Amino acid sequence: MKTAKAKNIVMVDNADGMLLRNQIKILQHLQRAGKATRTELAAHTGLTQAAVSKITAHLIATGTIEEAGLLTGRLGRRSIALRIRSDGWKVIGIKLSRRNYSVGLFDLSGQMLRQVKREIEVGQGFEEAFERIRSTVLGYIAEFEDVAAIGVSVPGPFLSKEKKILLISEYGVEPRRDIDLSDIFSSREFGGKPVIISHDANAGVLADWWFGIEDRIFKGVVVHYLLGEGVGAGVIIDGQVFGGAQGASAEIGHVSVDSEGERCACGNHGCLEMYCSSLAFLKDAYERRRAAPHSSLNLHEHLTPEMVFEAARAGDEAAAACVDRAAYYIGLGLVNIVNCFNPSSVILCNEMAVGGEFLLQKVREVARQRLLPYLFDTVDILVSTFKGDDILFGAAAVAIDYCLKNPNSLTVVRREEVLL
Ligand SMILES: [Zn+2]
Repeated sequence: MKTAKAKNIVMVDNADGMLLRNQIKILQHLQRAGKATRTELAAHTGLTQAAVSKITAHLIATGTIEEAGLLTGRLGRRSIALRIRSDGWKVIGIKLSRRNYSVGLFDLSGQMLRQVKREIEVGQGFEEAFERIRSTVLGYIAEFEDVAAIGVSVPGPFLSKEKKILLISEYGVEPRRDIDLSDIFSSREFGGKPVIISHDANAGVLADWWFGIEDRIFKGVVVHYLLGEGVGAGVIIDGQVFGGAQGASAEIGHVSVDSEGERCACGNHGCLEMYCSSLAFLKDAYERRRAAPHSSLNLHEHLTPEMVFEAARAGDEAAAACVDRAAYYIGLGLVNIVNCFNPSSVILCNEMAVGGEFLLQKVREVARQRLLPYLFDTVDILVSTFKGDDILFGAAAVAIDYCLKNPNSLTVVRREEVLL
């Protein structure tokens, strides 16, 4: 039976056939359930017992899962449970953003074991950040013997084949252009480990899919509307990430929402991300609090999006005006997304998602006023409830995805096995 879930799996499996799809089904169930017997796995995945036995044997051999005592089934029969090895192979996720970078070490169950997050100075190049990232990653590889791959998420427009970022724009700041990552994030620089680079919005899609707590089922056309330091979109159409001819599609942040607006570094005028990225949101908050000495926004030296949303919820007028402005522009972007892609769902993600239902209601209202009623009524507009940085987890998911497609990368040798 072709279910929405099965379609979803096609998203990370362009060519490698049934085995990969079925491995992922089994790993995802173990990730969510913690432990399961082979019989339970067969029931949950729709696979035959024989197929489950074959795949689990393969996953045990690659050090991915292990047997973990006995579980009592519904009929009182005790069977061997399986679980993901907590000491199994690991991946490193790197998130490169405009003003900061993060490096995280993850196991396959989505546990983040280590994290380093550092600021990048406004308007500075990335050279120092690249050097620090390299040093952190090499430190993890030295400490953990079973790192299988490294995933990197980068802002765009990003040309995936050339591994080149065309432009990183930031309103009021000198843009960075034509950053060739093919040498910087290369296997040679990272201890020979495979390194896979992905556009950040597409990495976010994979995070939702791999680590999404709600078991959200993707069906039809789903848009991951990334609202972080930049604005972008990851679009999944019929189970496949839509990348465009060069991998630089769905740059919704560079859609014009004011044709007479200031010129963006991309060449367009009044680009969406100049109005509703988290950086634009904070810039607006700093400006408004200067004009409102009694605003609670003045209680903090440095503001975060969360603080502004909190103040707005508590009735602070300056903060409420910031949220209304951001919601208006996020709504305009959403209207463009719906008119272009006719999605079944759009998920507001990343930093601005801390606005939760409060923000969502305002964005929905903008969409309701500007969309054809039929289109508005048939699209699910949601806000992500992902705990943690979905783009950093997405970078890890990019690495996991690679490993499952390339089982040779899972050459994990543990000390105790060497001693035996
Ligand atoms: Zn632009």
